[in-house]
Amino acid sequence: MRITSKIDVLGLDLDNTLTFRMRPLPWWCSVFLVPFFMILPPNKSMLNMIRKFKSSGGKIIIISARPSFFTKISKLWLKRYNVPYHKIKCVGFIDRNRQKLQVIRTENVDCFIDDDWVVRQFVGENEPFVKILSPSV
Ligand SMILES: [Mg+2]
Repeated sequence: MRITSKIDVLGLDLDNTLTFRMRPLPWWCSVFLVPFFMILPPNKSMLNMIRKFKSSGGKIIIISARPSFFTKISKLWLKRYNVPYHKIKCVGFIDRNRQKLQVIRTENVDCFIDDDWVVRQFVGENEPFVKILSPSV
């Protein structure tokens, strides 16, 4: 995936975007799977892309629908795999589309990547000037 130099702030989903693809689980399953999060492998091509983006001066905001109490373990995971980022926001599953949109607005995200088309569509409808991509592009 190529991110153009016009992008200053990149917003990134975590599960199935920055982490290796797995079938989405109901959100409540994840509560029992905290240790599992630590062994999830990162999506290599995504990781390479954001490392280049970071070294070219870009800002990375991770915007996840994980509940806020997952922030700490998510940070450990990011550290473990040496994932560059500036900020992580775990917005929770309740009203996640609107919550993610809110972060995109407050952080002035120029480009947003999410595997969930429902989120992509919602953000696209509400913020037409934000470039929206799927991780599989
Ligand atoms: Mg996702």
